[in-house]
Amino acid sequence: MSNGHHIVVLGAGYTGMFAAVRLAHRTRRTGVRITLVNPTGRFVERLRMHQVAAGQTLAEHRIPSMLAGTGVRFVEGTATAIDPEARTVTIGGDMSLGYDTLVYALGSSTDTGKVPGADAHAFTLNSIEIAGRFAERLTEVAAAGGTVTVCGGGLTGVEAATEIAESHPGLQVTLISQDEPGGMMGDRARGYLHRALDRLGIKVESGARVAKVLPEAVELADGRIVPSAACLWTAGVKVSPLAAEAGIATDERGLIVVDGSLRSVSHPEIHAIGDAAAVRLAWGRIHGTCQSGLPTAQYTADTIARLVRGRTVKPFRFGYFHQPVSLGRRDAVIQFTKADDTPARWWLTGRSAVMYKEFVSGSPLLTYRFSKRMNVTTVVSKGGRATRRPAV
Ligand SMILES: Cc1cc2nc3c(=O)[nH]c(=O)nc-3n(C[C@H](O)[C@H](O)[C@H](O)COP(=O)(O)OP(=O)(O)OC[C@H]3O[C@@H](n4cnc5c(N)ncnc54)[C@H](O)[C@@H]3O)c2cc1C
Repeated sequence: MSNGHHIVVLGAGYTGMFAAVRLAHRTRRTGVRITLVNPTGRFVERLRMHQVAAGQTLAEHRIPSMLAGTGVRFVEGTATAIDPEARTVTIGGDMSLGYDTLVYALGSSTDTGKVPGADAHAFTLNSIEIAGRFAERLTEVAAAGGTVTVCGGGLTGVEAATEIAESHPGLQVTLISQDEPGGMMGDRARGYLHRALDRLGIKVESGARVAKVLPEAVELADGRIVPSAACLWTAGVKVSPLAAEAGIATDERGLIVVDGSLRSVSHPEIHAIGDAAAVRLAWGRIHGTCQSGLPTAQYTADTIARLVRGRTVKPFRFGYFHQPVSLGRRDAVIQFTKADDTPARWWLTGRSAVMYKEFVSGSPLLTYRFSKRMNVTTVVSKGGRATRRPAV
């Protein structure tokens, strides 16, 4: 299946962009055509969205420029439907794209639908525009000496709270979390993270569940009211309903269920990667991170290139190796991990951790650039003995 074979990649986030660029390099001289679809021409650095929320301006990266020289065609538009039987994707209301192979890389976004008031009164990091509006609101709140809440104490919530507190020292920032912030880290890294929250004057409401977001406050499940002139919501994720609506097999969260080669179990010509794929390995389920997403994109590009040439493929293997967390611009903590993301012995803090985290955040863009000409690997750990399985 080579000459004229058309591969459509849906979503030009971290994984879709990598898959498209690597595929172009891997399938050169095979006659394969590649089309990449994304709603905007700007590449969104989601890893830096908390910086936008704190008022920083990011460098603008244009997708057509990033694809220059690859031969990948870029379509600016939103996929609104997939017909897996006809093998077509509808873009917007009126454009139809036929495919032989589909790479589904639609990512995920923060879910504001589960708690009353979150959708109406909270901001998210779901787009540069929303994060930018939150930053504008912060400036007003800071001028009035008000309070801000960050709901969700996962790594994104911690990064956002510390970034905001560091750039607006006059603001009272409250981090509200059901679980302990940094709970997945080892004792020492977690202790360091809490000392940083303390140093930045962030009030932590740990073990607290948000019952309702109000226009000027957050109501907790135990009835307490936390003042909040601006609320940033980072708790919970949702995915696009497109796959489920198309009858592609999905799990209870709407992620595409894949086999060992990251192909849909119901439609093998559809490959799912990144946050939109339900990937199970011998040590457990992958959770949505760039760290795991880039290897899924790399693997899928290589797999499709092999299938196009009629070759066999080996199953996907991956293991986690770090939890990098920025604590504002001047501090960070890195917890190194075992393959299943539980803490290992090693951890890093301070200046070297800041440099490490900055390298992690900038490395996808470097990877795309070099992947036009060579096979750059994003895999640090294959997950050890646990992920060894026979070829598929
Ligand atoms: C503030 C923040 C910090 C983070 N920090 C880290 C970190 O330090 N390390 C880490 O590993 N992970 C981190 N993550 C998680 C990481 O950003 C995600 O796991 C990663 O972006 C997933 O990549 P993806 O390609 O699956 O999805 P995305 O990068 O979200 O890309 C999805 C793309 O699909 C497009 N799209 C959506 N719907 C459609 C449609 N219908 N049609 C066409 N295109 C569509 C979107 O516009 C987007 O461009 C962080 C996330 C946030 C929000």
